[in-house]
Amino acid sequence: MAVEDLIIIGAGPAGLTAGLYAARARLKTIVLEKFSPGGQILNTDWVENYPGFPEGISGFELIDRMKRQAERFDLRIINQEATGIVIDKRKIIVTTDKDSLEAMTVILACGATPQKLLIEGETLLTGKGVSYCATCDGPFFRDQTVAVIGGGDTAVEEALFLTRFASKVYLVHRRDRLRATKVLQERAFAQNKIVPLWDTVATRIAGKNSVEGLDIKNVKTNEEKTLPVQGVFVFIGNNSNNELAKGILKLDGKGFIITDNNMETSCPGIFAAGDIRSKLLRQVSTSVGEGATAAFAAEKYLESLI
Ligand code: NAP
Repeated sequence: MAVEDLIIIGAGPAGLTAGLYAARARLKTIVLEKFSPGGQILNTDWVENYPGFPEGISGFELIDRMKRQAERFDLRIINQEATGIVIDKRKIIVTTDKDSLEAMTVILACGATPQKLLIEGETLLTGKGVSYCATCDGPFFRDQTVAVIGGGDTAVEEALFLTRFASKVYLVHRRDRLRATKVLQERAFAQNKIVPLWDTVATRIAGKNSVEGLDIKNVKTNEEKTLPVQGVFVFIGNNSNNELAKGILKLDGKGFIITDNNMETSCPGIFAAGDIRSKLLRQVSTSVGEGATAAFAAEKYLESLI
């Protein structure tokens, strides 16, 4: 079996940037992606804080450009799901749903997955009015009332996006102030379709075949009521896609992979980049820098083996 220099797992902004740098360094590199390239950015309608695009750019187009740029340097992107990692002396074996591959280095860039609310009705009604992607499902809620849960950048950005379709968007947040970037907050407060509900948690999503309402509770007054909504969009943060790392790499308390400044994990030869990493800020701009650093560090690591 041919041994690769580098296997990159995940083709979001971090993985594709690592791939671009590795391909230009002429490392024998494969990128594994279980879906199509993109990661969570594909769920983002419009990216306006990635430098170089003064008017902003759609998540889809940004990823398409990154992919084409990397492929121009002959990066191989393979549609397979990585299912396991085994360290075999100096080599790393990556098993996939179709194959078993070997490499001297690996970059984990598998990203993160939206966190669930874990309340009654959520699982039953997912895809029937409960959604984790406004870009995908927003158009189904034309002239309807929806609730967005969360107070971070994603919740506010997606609430704003949903005002294009919905007649009213309740923004249900558990505290009395938003976590989101100020410029997004200003836009949300200026949009009269968005109705913030402060100090409020969701306790149950009602309905059998579709969402019929959202039970909420004010955590300061304990007042409970049911919001008459047809859609519930949940944006309360993300969990690290750390399945491949568990038991092998050091993770932080929330399950994100701990690396040093060069993106190297607790296991020599294995690097991590993007949303899967333990870090302060999860952005396309931070992910691409980490992808570049991880690829460069992998190259230096390979040189150290000679
Ligand atoms: P986040 O920043 O972790 O915010 C999660 C929000 O959900 C917080 O407001 C949190 O409340 C709330 N929350 C968490 N658990 C909850 C629960 N069990 N019940 C109710 N509410 C809960 O997550 P995010 O907004 O998805 O953003 C993730 C990362 O991506 C961040 O680094 C963000 O900056 C970045 N991002 C950036 C952009 C952009 O730059 N345009 C867009 C999207 C995301 P508390 O505030 O009370 O903790």
